[in-house]
Amino acid sequence: MSELATERQIDRSKMHVGSDVAIQINNMNKWYGAFHVLRDINLTVNEGERIVIAGPSGSGKSTLIRCINRLEEHQQGDIIVDGTELTSDLKNIDKVRREVGMCFQHFNLFPHLTILENCTLAPIWVRKVPRKEAEETAMHFLEKVKIPDQALKYPGQLSGGQQQRVAIARSLCMKPRIMLFDEPTSALDPEMIKEVLDTMIELAEEGMTMICVTHEMGFARQVANRVIFMDQGQIVEQNEPEEFFNNPKSERTQLFLSQIL
Ligand code: ADP
Ligand code: MG
Repeated sequence: MSELATERQIDRSKMHVGSDVAIQINNMNKWYGAFHVLRDINLTVNEGERIVIAGPSGSGKSTLIRCINRLEEHQQGDIIVDGTELTSDLKNIDKVRREVGMCFQHFNLFPHLTILENCTLAPIWVRKVPRKEAEETAMHFLEKVKIPDQALKYPGQLSGGQQQRVAIARSLCMKPRIMLFDEPTSALDPEMIKEVLDTMIELAEEGMTMICVTHEMGFARQVANRVIFMDQGQIVEQNEPEEFFNNPKSERTQLFLSQIL
């Protein structure tokens, strides 16, 4: 278990959980062909919540968060993001994707574009932001993730931790209201995990609504207001971190925690 996230004093003054619903998932089911990958998922995420999803490999964590911005399609039930229901309606999908930023385990930066160009591409071409304004915004977020000096380099010239921070900055340039993270530190060397977690902690401190799939249980304890445990396509258990770690209810959660802690 990584305790890296705990070295830092966390400012909770803006970490409010609001009463507005950011994400509502009702009786959602998904299949890959005949394989029933997500089973009866019910989940309400309020604005300002910081949710960590944990669970064994193959339990459906990635599939669940990919459904939230329609990288995967669900077959039954409802997913409503910021009041917009995800159906096959492309207008709704586009609207939801504007609200939701995503960071993956592999940073998926464009290798042939500079860091600055990676950050301005979507704002300029998708959002029609004037180049100068897009570049100012990009520099603002590159400063925030503490690598403004790398702006004119290419992804291959940066460390993994720096590339992941660029990926986060690139998402932030689209001004999302919700951020989804899928194991953002799993591909990183240990010494780079902390710098990415610190960036995520800062986002949490600013009140960002976040869902993070991560094995960093130190981060979960410190930052999450709720930990969700998934197994075999189901949400088995969810609780505030203290209760989740100290008093897991189901045997499956207990077994999982005994293996990772
Ligand atoms: P996790 O992120 O918890 O490891 P995933 O959501 O990636 O789990 O995968 C859940 C299950 O769905 C796994 O059994 C995986 O093999 C399967 N799966 C994932 N993606 C696909 C796909 N595109 N087609 C078929 N099966 C998939
Ligand atoms: Mg996964």
